[in-house]
Order: sequence, then C-alpha cells, then structure tokens
Amino acid sequence: MRDDSTGLSLPLGHLPGTRYPDANITVLDKRFRRQGNAAIERVATGFRWAEGPVYFRDLGCLVWSDIPNNRMMRWLEDDGHVSVFRAPSNYSNGNTRDRQGRLITCEHDMRRVTRTELDGRVIVLIDRFDGKRLNAPNDVVVASDGAIWFTDPGYGIDGEYEGHKAEFELPANVYRLDLRTGTAQAVAGDFVRPNGLAFSPDERRLYIVDSGATHGGPAHIRCFDVSGTRLRGGRVFAEDFAPGMTDGVRVDMEGNVWCSMGWGDPAEDGVRCYAPDGTLIGKVHLPETCANLCFGGRKRNRLFMAASTSIYALYLDMEGAMVP
Ligand code: MG
Repeated sequence: MRDDSTGLSLPLGHLPGTRYPDANITVLDKRFRRQGNAAIERVATGFRWAEGPVYFRDLGCLVWSDIPNNRMMRWLEDDGHVSVFRAPSNYSNGNTRDRQGRLITCEHDMRRVTRTELDGRVIVLIDRFDGKRLNAPNDVVVASDGAIWFTDPGYGIDGEYEGHKAEFELPANVYRLDLRTGTAQAVAGDFVRPNGLAFSPDERRLYIVDSGATHGGPAHIRCFDVSGTRLRGGRVFAEDFAPGMTDGVRVDMEGNVWCSMGWGDPAEDGVRCYAPDGTLIGKVHLPETCANLCFGGRKRNRLFMAASTSIYALYLDMEGAMVP
C-alpha cells in the first residue's frame, strides 16, 4: 500500500499507529470507564522483573523496583527519561509513600522495611518480629494513622534470583507496624503467600492477595474488615485467576479493586478491575505478565503497570484513591 500524500510505503494489512478506542481494553460493565481517545503506552522497557511502582506527584516521576537487577529505577514524566534511582537496592520489591511523602520500601535481601527520609537517609522501620528475622517483605501500604501494613511471603529467600536463599524463621504473615509505639503485630497468619495489599478509600476494608499458587496454594484476593488495629473476616473477594495468578492490588476513589494478572493464559495478561461488590468490570490486556500497578499522573487518572520487562501506562476516566 502506498500513501500518495506522503510517498511512504506501508505494510499491507497493518497500518502503523494506534486506533482508538484501544482494542486491548475490555469493558465488561459501565462502571469501568476508559478514556475513549487513550491507548496503552509502553513508557519504559529493558528490566528483568519490574515490581513495586510508586508515583511521586510532586516530582512528576515513577519509581519502581527491578528486583533481579538489584536496583530501583525512575521514569520522568515530562521527558520520559529513565535512570537508576538506587543501586544496590537490596533487591527491593514493593514501594509506597507515607502521608509525609516519604518512600517506604520492602527489601528482600536485608529482609526489612525501610523509610527514605526527605534528606535521603534510609532508616530501618522493622527487620525482626518476635525476636526472629522477617522472611522477605513483599508489599506495603500506609494507613492514615501512619501505621505500616505489609506482607512477608518470603519469595526473596526462596532462591538466588530475587535475593538470596535462606531459611524461613517466621510464618508468611501479614503485619501491622505501629510507629508511635514501635510495636508490630501479626494481623493475619492464614495465608500461603500474602502479597499485594490495599485499603478501601474509607479504610474499612483491606484487600490482600494470596499468591500461594506458587507453592500449591490459592490464587485469590481476600477482603478483611478493618477493626481498629485488627482484621476480621477475610472472605474470598475474587478467585477467578487460575491457571494464572495475581500479585499487586490497588483501589480507586470509587472503591474499585485493580489487580495485576499473569502467569497463565497469555490472553489474560495485564490488569483486572473489580467493583466493590466483586463483579469483574474491566480488563487491560498487556503483552507481558503484570506483577503490580499504581495510579499516578497529576490527576491520579493514569494507571502505571509494572509488567515483567516493561512499564506501561494508560489514561482512564477513573481516579486512584488518595492512598498510593
Ligand atoms: Mg508483590
């Protein structure tokens, strides 16, 4: 095919460019609102295993972990520049920010959760529980009272690729760390491998992924009622992931639950969105297994997806919750 206006030769049957609306976005329910004239963009690539994306609205950048490469990366929204944010990162995994804007990071290799102060110092928030070393913290969220809730499945001590092989000293628990008292409590101990976690906008619910399918367990998201410093209930919220799995989870302003998807049918790779009642309302299809996601952009309406070797972004007609 030849375009007479430009003189360019185009391959038959496949014109370059993107057609709106993007066919890689599936709307299953009107509660899932895509942006008609927006497509999925691959904004950065060349990593081994991208995880833990966190958006800095004040700095206009995305930071994430590239776990096997033992580094954290940064992408600048204004010009797309990608550079190393921190190396070595102690095989960091999940990241978030607290209410003061400080970066909170899970480290596989040092088996701890850290906080990066505004002057750049990295301080240890927790590396032991009950006198024993944590396994390898995976993902983290901060509540409005400043408490740090995190999961400790131990993938970082399973082998030498995402950390270093070591013995488990503790069960794969979910913890709440109260920084005012300096004490931690195990808030859930009945997971095979607890992974991503996210509060509902009113903090009455806490969604926690069990990625135990990697070790003969389930692949689902559970929903707990938050009762002060404790969790109650824990019913299965979404369970239609097999033979694939989910890993990271975030919530938007309306309480919809967004989670990563991969490791199964390649046609299902990407991100899923569930309404608060558990209905699957939309899918974002990616060409790679997706581990984690976060909302960002100046208006919190841009979804960033950490998917294997790449970072993808998509503008939506929906906003992420204030909690990163
Ligand atoms: Mg994870």
